[in-house]
Amino acid sequence: CYILGIESSCDETSVAIVENGRRIVSNVISSQADIHKQFGGVVPEVASRRHVERITQVVEMALQQANLTMERIAAIGVTYGPGLVGALLVGVSAAKSLAYAHDLPVIAVHHIAGHIYSNFLENKKHPPVLALIVSGGHTEIVYMPDLYTYECLGRTRDDAVGEAFDKVARTMGLEYPGGPVIDRLAQKGNPEAVPLPRAFLADDSFDFSFSGLKSAVINVLHNGKQRGESISQEDLAASFQAAVTDVLVEKTAKAVLRTGVRQVVVAGGVAANQGLRASLGKRAQLDGFEVYFPPVALCTDNAAMIAGAAYPLYQKGQFADLSLNAVANIRLGVER
Ligand code: ATP
Ligand code: MG
Ligand code: FE
Repeated sequence: CYILGIESSCDETSVAIVENGRRIVSNVISSQADIHKQFGGVVPEVASRRHVERITQVVEMALQQANLTMERIAAIGVTYGPGLVGALLVGVSAAKSLAYAHDLPVIAVHHIAGHIYSNFLENKKHPPVLALIVSGGHTEIVYMPDLYTYECLGRTRDDAVGEAFDKVARTMGLEYPGGPVIDRLAQKGNPEAVPLPRAFLADDSFDFSFSGLKSAVINVLHNGKQRGESISQEDLAASFQAAVTDVLVEKTAKAVLRTGVRQVVVAGGVAANQGLRASLGKRAQLDGFEVYFPPVALCTDNAAMIAGAAYPLYQKGQFADLSLNAVANIRLGVER
């Protein structure tokens, strides 16, 4: 059974076809990052317009690369939120018109459920898992006992990890998106060069806070400039990345202890980060749990993860109707 997935929540127009929720048959990603670069971040109106321009061709490319026609597609999965509402609407409208034209069911997929699902594609992992979500807009630890249940153990109280990477990078004068640039610089820097705070919050809390760290980096840059000292970009990147990583690793290890779930999957753009991959991998080995990261190409936004996450809903017959709307803010699952 082939599901066609559509993703347009931010600045990637993506369409994919996934067989039985596992095998990626095609996954076309048209990124607008080069357009938003000149503004230093995503401009919502520009994003929506670009999605409109790209969506039809990206659907055609996904079918072509899969060597399939619409007649072979069983259902359409689409990201309906969270994200930029104007951007989401383009994907949702495309999904509804395709469904109407070809008499297919539409499946509404939560974007973060999609990110988690990138770990289950190609039969890599399956629940029960603890998911560490580290994306541009979300930082959460979610317990997933089965494919239908999401229990949030903790979340960020201010900035998301990816957001902190991008804001710090912008202050350092680096290009958007800053995460990958900081990752590259950090590999050549000393993570102990610049002392930076780590916010662990209360002992029993799985919440996060990254705005203090972000401000601390901005202060270091500002004070350095005033004193006329130059701070090595490599050292600052490495120190910032280490501060972020320490907190993520510590809280994840604690969640493993608390829940007894020994399988951890990481999801979202920051899952591509080499420093996080190394530190969490090392900690997993030490503490005796398993950690899995999706292939780098599936960490950031893509439609394969959406087509994949639609499959369990398809099996349950959980279909949306043509009144489906885009929602900018919706939480995933329940709080615990
Ligand atoms: P959300 O999924 O919460 O709606 P989003 O879709 O914008 O947000 P993603 O596509 O999951 O976010 O990830 C993009 C984020 O990942 C950006 O903040 C980017 O800087 C960050 N990122 C990508 N690669 C890396 C990397 N190697 N190291 C650190 N951060 C990275
Ligand atoms: Mg993006
Ligand atoms: Fe995302």
